[in-house]
Amino acid sequence: MMRAEEFQCRLDEVRARIERAALGAGRPPQSIILIGVTKTHPPQLGQLAVAAGLIDLGENRVQEWLAKRDHVPGARWHLVGQLQRNKVKDVVGHQVLVHSVDREKLAQALSRRAEEAGILQRVLIQVNVGDDPAKGGCEVDRAVDLVAYARNLPNLAVEGLMTIPPLPASGVDPGEAARPHFATLRRLRDAARERYPEVAHLSMGMSADLEAAVEEGATMVRVGTALFGTRRTGPWRPEEDAR
Ligand SMILES: *Cc1c(COP(=O)(O)O)cnc(C)c1O
Repeated sequence: MMRAEEFQCRLDEVRARIERAALGAGRPPQSIILIGVTKTHPPQLGQLAVAAGLIDLGENRVQEWLAKRDHVPGARWHLVGQLQRNKVKDVVGHQVLVHSVDREKLAQALSRRAEEAGILQRVLIQVNVGDDPAKGGCEVDRAVDLVAYARNLPNLAVEGLMTIPPLPASGVDPGEAARPHFATLRRLRDAARERYPEVAHLSMGMSADLEAAVEEGATMVRVGTALFGTRRTGPWRPEEDAR
């Protein structure tokens, strides 16, 4: 298990990377929200993060998040992975920002459930900027229409866009490989925001490419490995022994 001192070092390093990139791009570093992606890791790592002041945490599987969330009090959760409609009921009402709305049916299901719960569900629209069959997200050409559709639903608040660029070819600098995809997401966000000013966030950038993302306008970066170390092979399960 990682110790608090090591986590603090990693957190300082990631925050310094964000700050350097932001200042270089003439942006205030505080305008960028760091999300610590804790997937596969035991809840103790989430607890370390919260204790160090990193309260925005992300998970990509609903099942794993459900098992983990009660063990990490004080976290503000982000669902960054694909969401099946039958899991919508587990997510709505728990103050989770859903980063992965990529189709009308899912938007509908979230809004309907939020209506039953009497709340507004905050979401981002995920766009498959690299047209990568391995990645979720709606097509680039449909993104602004999906924003319009989702924001017209009574109980959804569409706050921005999210993307996961394709994996870079080996030997290619990950930031430079991702940069044109980040720029595409920003262009889409700008187009949507002209009509709908609340569509402001850009969730993009991970451990290997966060500088490029910040330079291209990210307002949320999702960082796993650089904060928590190499991921384990499968999801964390509560029946595991906490070593
Ligand atoms: C796992 C994950 C991340 C974090 O990736 P790292 O490269 O480990 O920083 C970010 N976003 C999403 C959607 C993820 O699933």
